Amino acid sequence: MIKPLSEMLAKAEKGGYAIGAFNTSNLEITLAIARAAAKLKAPIIIQTSESAIKYSNTTVIYNLIKNVAETVARKVPVAIHLDHGQDLSIIKECIKVGYNSVHIDASEKDFATNVRLSKKVRQLAKKSHVSVQSELGSILGKEGLVRLEKGEINMEELMTDPEQAKKFVKLTKVDALAIAVGTIHGRFVGLEKVDQERLKKIHSLVKIPLVLHGASGLPPKDLKEAVANGVSVVNIDTNLRLVFKKSLWKSMNQERNIIDPRAILTPSIVSVQAEVERIIKILGSANKA
Ligand SMILES: [Zn+2]
Repeated sequence: MIKPLSEMLAKAEKGGYAIGAFNTSNLEITLAIARAAAKLKAPIIIQTSESAIKYSNTTVIYNLIKNVAETVARKVPVAIHLDHGQDLSIIKECIKVGYNSVHIDASEKDFATNVRLSKKVRQLAKKSHVSVQSELGSILGKEGLVRLEKGEINMEELMTDPEQAKKFVKLTKVDALAIAVGTIHGRFVGLEKVDQERLKKIHSLVKIPLVLHGASGLPPKDLKEAVANGVSVVNIDTNLRLVFKKSLWKSMNQERNIIDPRAILTPSIVSVQAEVERIIKILGSANKA
């Protein structure tokens, strides 16, 4: 059942657990996420990136998620969120069709521009009671990692500065903040870490929910520690893509005579569901619906 994200996050903060935010772009992944949440009685965020929206369109993907949330996941709280919104026209459209929450990612811009854009989106979202997530600090991706390995950039300097985060939240009054504390978009086991001291410091200064991106390659122990230290939302995308592809590859190779797309795709749905269940258990959100 669709619920306001603010309500879900207030409960998570009180209960000391985090809510998983899982990316989708199609029916199969959406079903897998919803089935996992329903089975484990977990609150959940189902999110789309801008490219996931472009894969079909805003109304199609929104209604698909909404319909699955109101049937398969009708007994658990579900929020629908735009992940890494950078295009104001897409953000506006998401607010218009009914998303509960939008992310304005202006983290690559300078501080003043990030503040200005975050305030603007907050203004746009306010009337519709849509939550706004901003981002401060630079969460590395694959390209950034190459630069990091060449010594062109310094991880420490890219991370969220706790005092600046406090100032940012005070100026923008956004509802949630994505922070850079050492995780990387993608899956880079061994390279992804969490600067737990920095996280604790940010949590003590910033009184809104904190969002951890790029956590796919983080060991469960570190993820649990990050939740204990103040993370309320954990974004997971890459892990779902990996298990989806692995199962698809297997079914395409083992069952070469099968042409029914449902038979080909069912193993992928099962694998994604299992991965979502694994993450929910790490985050402590099972039986919190
Ligand atoms: Zn992200």
